[in-house]
Amino acid sequence: MSTKDYELILDPGHGGIDPGAVSSEKEKDWTLKISLYQYNRFKELGVPVSLTRSTDISLDSGPRTAKVKNSGAKYCISNHLNAGGGDRGEVIHSIFDSGQLANRLKDQLEAVGQTTVKVYCKQGSKGKDYYYMHRETGAVKTNIVEYCFIDNKADFEHFKKNWEAYAEAVVKGFCSFVGHPYKAPAKDQKEANEVEGKLSAAEEAVVEKAKKLGITDGKKPLKVPNQYYVWNVVIPVMEELEALKEEMAALKEELQKLKEGK
Ligand SMILES: [Zn+2]
Repeated sequence: MSTKDYELILDPGHGGIDPGAVSSEKEKDWTLKISLYQYNRFKELGVPVSLTRSTDISLDSGPRTAKVKNSGAKYCISNHLNAGGGDRGEVIHSIFDSGQLANRLKDQLEAVGQTTVKVYCKQGSKGKDYYYMHRETGAVKTNIVEYCFIDNKADFEHFKKNWEAYAEAVVKGFCSFVGHPYKAPAKDQKEANEVEGKLSAAEEAVVEKAKKLGITDGKKPLKVPNQYYVWNVVIPVMEELEALKEEMAALKEELQKLKEGK
């Protein structure tokens, strides 16, 4: 499969004269922020990607869906924040779609702390989709993602604190669905490098200590230990090493998590 087979267009909901849902903040600003983040990440990962808008412009349903339809993309993710007093995320797929991608996105959003993500589709009249993003985007498989409720204080606060993780969750979910190689963002990679540095420093410290005590020259053991030596040197050193080993195990675990982008 070539990357062309899963070319993607991101759609930051609302914009310009249409603020979307409004609480203390505007939905249109957050959908743009999320979409630009994802746009850069998909580029970085080598997934062909475009946007319906990259600035705060007005975009009616007609020109918006036309952009999606004519983009050459196979998939569209339309980013939104909900309103109306719920406490959850939502992924809405077309009535003609199995919802597999939607469920993949749900799993990733829940993994970063959105407690509930509802996956569903909604039928309108005459056996067509209810939402125009599904109904008027042709063959492009569109998923509408509602990250949280902007008018629910706790839900919105949690989102705001973790918005990059929410945005990344969709990047990761999409990559896993289409089978594109995924790598955690550079920020996590930097942290991983730091932990890796600490780990090799700890490993070096162990060898240095053993060299000082004449146990090894760094390659092979030097001493054939007698009882006195075991009691006074080896056992205390072993205890110290045991503590260091635990610390290293914890570091290794942290590193693994960072590498997997959890
Ligand atoms: Zn919206």
